[in-house]
Amino acid sequence: MTQTFSSQVLSWFQQYGRKHLPWQKNVTPYRVWVSEIMLQQTQVTTVIPYFERFMTTFPTVQDLAAAPQDRVLNLWTGLGYYARARNLHKTAKLVCEQCNGEFPEKVHELEQLPGIGRSTAGAIRSLGHGEYAPILDGNVKRVLARHFAVAGWPGKTKVLKELWQLSEQLTPEKDSAAYNQAMMDIGAMICTRSKPLCEQCPVNSTCTARETDTIAHYPGKKPQKVKPVKATHMLLFRYNEHFLLEKRPQTGIWGGLWGFPQSEEENQIASFIRHYGLSEQTRQQLPGFRHTFSHFHLDCYPLLIDVTPADHSLNENHHLWVKADTNKDLGFAAPTVKLMKQLITNK
Ligand code: SF4
Repeated sequence: MTQTFSSQVLSWFQQYGRKHLPWQKNVTPYRVWVSEIMLQQTQVTTVIPYFERFMTTFPTVQDLAAAPQDRVLNLWTGLGYYARARNLHKTAKLVCEQCNGEFPEKVHELEQLPGIGRSTAGAIRSLGHGEYAPILDGNVKRVLARHFAVAGWPGKTKVLKELWQLSEQLTPEKDSAAYNQAMMDIGAMICTRSKPLCEQCPVNSTCTARETDTIAHYPGKKPQKVKPVKATHMLLFRYNEHFLLEKRPQTGIWGGLWGFPQSEEENQIASFIRHYGLSEQTRQQLPGFRHTFSHFHLDCYPLLIDVTPADHSLNENHHLWVKADTNKDLGFAAPTVKLMKQLITNK
């Protein structure tokens, strides 16, 4: 069974697998690593232009390590999950400082680096170094859970363990890279979340979920929790067509990104204005919107406040006055980009 499954997957790959993705050209562990991090929670078509811009700007891990964090976050703007970009930057520095600019080959060594889990480590080892290593990303989990009818949500330790065991058994010693790429392709192109194309699947003759007509049961769903709702007032201080942005702390939401100052309480806005050394001229409430994170919703209430700055100056490392159409090399949180665009349109 193991052999049949793997050889069917491999022969499918020869004929139909994706072989021309940008990170499949000039393959290096560095390029594989960047693509794998970008592909977490993100579709291939979205990732391609980001990957290409990233590689043009930082062709090597040394270039990435030497870059200012603002530049890295700027190139990540719009991809979301910014912890990935901060970890990418940290890992690049570690690889240069501690490993002479070479990515380790062993999975357990790769796993020590920030932002690299077991599956990403397996992908770097197999696709980047050409050595045996199983992987288990979201696409592979879906194919295996369906084919072998592995019940339960893969976030649970027991379910995850079972899926890893299957992946270990099925991944061939030789051709690990082609097999892993094939499994990711089958998950993305055939065994899709909804309406899988089972007739085109190379392992359809042995798929339990298909045979028992229970495809929708696998993989098991995450137990639903109601997301809490938080609220914030976004303070768009405007002076002379410039807006005040501040850099957020490295930890917490939008860590290290630039955004409009925020106040959770409406009655604290006046003290915020004093804190920034501003005096208020007029204020106007703009339409609110909801921004959803993986663990909560944030209701944003933007307030456009025309101000005049008083004498005392703000720390330039943390505060900037910029025009709404600024092209500075900075990373912006998604709601900041959205509001900036709105300000340009309503000018
Ligand atoms: S037969 Fe269908 S459900 Fe089973 S692995 Fe293939 S695409 Fe997925």
